[in-house]
Amino acid sequence: MDKPLGYFDIKNALSENGCPVCRLETAAADAAIETLLWESVNDVPTRAHLNASRGFCRTHAAKMVRNGAALGVSIMMRDVMHTVAEILAAGTFQGSPGLAMRQKLPVFNHAVNPATAELVKNLSPQAECPICTEAQAAGTRYLRTLVENFTGADSLAEDYRRSDGLCLPHFQQALNFVTDAGTFAALTDAQLHIWRQLTDQLDEFVRKSDYRFQREKMGRESDAWQRALAAISGQL
Ligand SMILES: [Zn+2]
Ligand SMILES: [Zn+2]
Repeated sequence: MDKPLGYFDIKNALSENGCPVCRLETAAADAAIETLLWESVNDVPTRAHLNASRGFCRTHAAKMVRNGAALGVSIMMRDVMHTVAEILAAGTFQGSPGLAMRQKLPVFNHAVNPATAELVKNLSPQAECPICTEAQAAGTRYLRTLVENFTGADSLAEDYRRSDGLCLPHFQQALNFVTDAGTFAALTDAQLHIWRQLTDQLDEFVRKSDYRFQREKMGRESDAWQRALAAISGQL
């Protein structure tokens, strides 16, 4: 039987380190950045979207800094700079800057200041970072493929048990696609197995860090702390 789209991508990603969907999302984001830079810099709807999204999120802005990107990024960001400058130039201070208001707005609180709220809102992204959109769409497709092929013929369950597993945010998304009790049982069993192994390694790391056991060589547990951070927060 033909495998669904993405089956082998997810199977391969399960043989690598870290969350397979974080890895595949990063690859999808990278492909989207390349397409944007080499094919869409002068595309009118793309540029309009980028103005609305106020460019890129911080993660993907950092990823735009790559060889050969300077001209394309200059052309796109020049437009975005014009957009935010126009909004700021048209902005007004709304309200009375009286003592009463200053007392209500301590420096470190997150209360909305009515005098500048509209301008703050207008400067905010009015659309999602386009690279995030592409990456998340790819992630959703891969998670569906993983869940739909977790049991049955050519099940991915064994590959999954041997892998680092999904990070917690992607595991939560995966649960969202589970529609039968069999898949639920297999997926949660595999995830608990992965988490137990990692927790054992953290225990071992902490134990060997005790001066009484410091002569014992570190094994697989030596980087368990970094894998635990990624397991809970997503690819670092
Ligand atoms: Zn992940
Ligand atoms: Zn983004």
